[in-house]
Amino acid sequence: MDFAFDRARHDRTGNLRRDPDSWNTPDLRVLVLGGEHVATVDGPRLRWLDRDEAPEGEWILLGRQHGRLHAAVMVDRVPAELNPVSVRVLAPLLDPDELSLAIHAVGLARWLASHRFCPRCGGALVSDESGHLRRCGGCRAEHYPRTDPAVIMLVTDPDDRALLARNPQWPQGRFSTLAGFVEPGETLEDAVRREVAEEVGVTIDRVAYLSSQPWPFPQSLMLGFRAEATGSELTPDPAEIAEARWFTREELRAASEDGSVVLPPPKVSISRWLVEQWYGRELPGSWG
Ligand SMILES: [Zn+2]
Repeated sequence: MDFAFDRARHDRTGNLRRDPDSWNTPDLRVLVLGGEHVATVDGPRLRWLDRDEAPEGEWILLGRQHGRLHAAVMVDRVPAELNPVSVRVLAPLLDPDELSLAIHAVGLARWLASHRFCPRCGGALVSDESGHLRRCGGCRAEHYPRTDPAVIMLVTDPDDRALLARNPQWPQGRFSTLAGFVEPGETLEDAVRREVAEEVGVTIDRVAYLSSQPWPFPQSLMLGFRAEATGSELTPDPAEIAEARWFTREELRAASEDGSVVLPPPKVSISRWLVEQWYGRELPGSWG
């Protein structure tokens, strides 16, 4: 089961961030981005400009990949001739090495764009650490990029069937694992147990962490778990769950093959990866 986030794909070169001259090299590759849109070329691939081709904007050092330094420059709107595409749309289509840089760039850019003023004193914030820190010109407070932890879990019942559910906003047939945000003062394991109880009324016994996936829309880190339910009776909360079902492996294979169940895209979705870890190999079909 390929998973784009299974290892580091670029060196974030944190030691270069304090000295912008250290990464202002002639062979720097520059990604132009605005909001969640990035410059692309057909393929689909990211479009990398040379340093002297880059427009004016706020700079972010991304790091080194395949021996070259990469940076991003934030503009209000990516010019049409650079073929802007949302990373949300692009993610399942990109090469994992490029996805790693794009997710880093968009995550930081969205945080920088929405943090212009100091939450303590209202003063204007300026960028530091090559885009990885905001400093207040008034009270000197330092503000670091935020990441919001969310738990996502493949729940199994005592018969080792997997729980999949459909959100009320999704079309018929689209299913995923349960997920939810971690609340202040809560452990990850308690968040898993609370979300499953709230969404489908099932009690969870054992919880085990498996892997994680960054998703900067707006600033989530999805933490993937296996969770074992003590029973099989489901009482879905209609506000959050339109449909919830237990699947045996044979039932899920058949439903994926005939299209009656469609899962999130392979390679970039930890939900799908969690399901395939349980299933034992790749499944057909995808939302993407
Ligand atoms: Zn301040």
